[in-house]
Amino acid sequence: MRAWVVDTPGPMATGPLVPVERDVPEPGPGEVLVRVEACGVCRTDLHLAEGDLAPRRPRTTPGHQVVGRVEGSGERVGVAWLRSTCGRCRYCLRGMENLCPDSTYTGWDADGGYAEYVMAPADYVYPLPGDVPAERLAPLLCAGIIGYRALARCDLPPGGRLGIYGFGSSAHLTAQAAIARGATVHAVTRSAASRELALELGAASAGDRPPEPLDAAILFAPVGDLVPPALEALDRGGTLAIAGIHLTDVPPLNYERHLFQERTLRSVTANTRADGRAYLELALAHPPRVETKIYPLDAAGRALADLAADRVRGAAVLVMG
Ligand SMILES: [Zn+2]
Ligand SMILES: [Zn+2]
Repeated sequence: MRAWVVDTPGPMATGPLVPVERDVPEPGPGEVLVRVEACGVCRTDLHLAEGDLAPRRPRTTPGHQVVGRVEGSGERVGVAWLRSTCGRCRYCLRGMENLCPDSTYTGWDADGGYAEYVMAPADYVYPLPGDVPAERLAPLLCAGIIGYRALARCDLPPGGRLGIYGFGSSAHLTAQAAIARGATVHAVTRSAASRELALELGAASAGDRPPEPLDAAILFAPVGDLVPPALEALDRGGTLAIAGIHLTDVPPLNYERHLFQERTLRSVTANTRADGRAYLELALAHPPRVETKIYPLDAAGRALADLAADRVRGAAVLVMG
C-alpha cells in the first residue's frame, strides 16, 4: 500500500514527510483493518512533521481523522486520536481516560491514516453512517471532538460571549456548536479568508481583538504570546481553555491584569471516548457545515505546507483516489 511517514523531524513542513510503499498491516486479536476513504489533516500532524512534537517511534504514518470501511464487514468507522488506554489506572477508573499515562495515539504511537489502510483497536473506533461523504465526516473526528471538549473546558455559560483565537479546522466546527447553544462568538484571527468564514458561520465579529469582554475563550492557535491578551480580554470569572497539544512559550503573566477577579486558565488534553460519542451523536443529528479543502493522498506534503502557511479555509482533508 501507499503511505506517508514522518522521517527525521526538521524545520520544514514538507521536508520530513516522505512517501513509502508498505505491506498492508495484519490485524491481531481485537483489531480491525480499515480501508481508508478520507483522512483529515490536523495541526498536530504538522507539529509532528515539524518536530514541535517529539516522535514516539521512527517513521510513523501520521493522520488521526480517518473515515473508512472495515475489511471483511464493510462497516463504516472513524479512527480518531485516542487509540488505547490502560483501563485500570486512577484516571481511567474516574472517567478521565484522556489523562491515562499509558494512553496511545493514532498517528503518533501507531501508524495513522495518511495511507491506504490503517489498523485500529476495535474498542476505540466510532461507528459512522455509510451515506455521508467521507470528507465531511473526517474533520469531525479530531477537529470536532477536541473542539467539543474545549467548549466544555472553557465553561461557556448559557447565552455567553465566547472568544475563539485562531480560526482553522477545529474552530470553525466549535463556533457552530457554540452558536447553536445560543452563544455570541467573536473570532480573533489574522487570516482574511478565516475572518470571512467566521462571519459566514454566524460569528458576531472577526478581527484582531474581541469588541466586548468575554465569558469564555478557546485558544486554538499554538501561540503562547496570545495567552496574556486573551486572559486580559476575559470578563470577571471568565475561563480561557488552550485546545492544542503544543504551545509556544507563554510570556510572564501579571496576576492582577491576567488572573485576578477569578479568571481561569486551563488546558485541554485529548478526549475521552465518551466525548467522542457525545459529539458525533450531536454532529450527526445536527450536521454542521464542514468547509473542506480536498487533496489526493499523493499531495499530503502540500496539504501540510498549506496548513503551515494559513492557506486552508476550514479543514484540509486527504481523499483516496
Ligand atoms: Zn488532531
Ligand atoms: Zn489508564
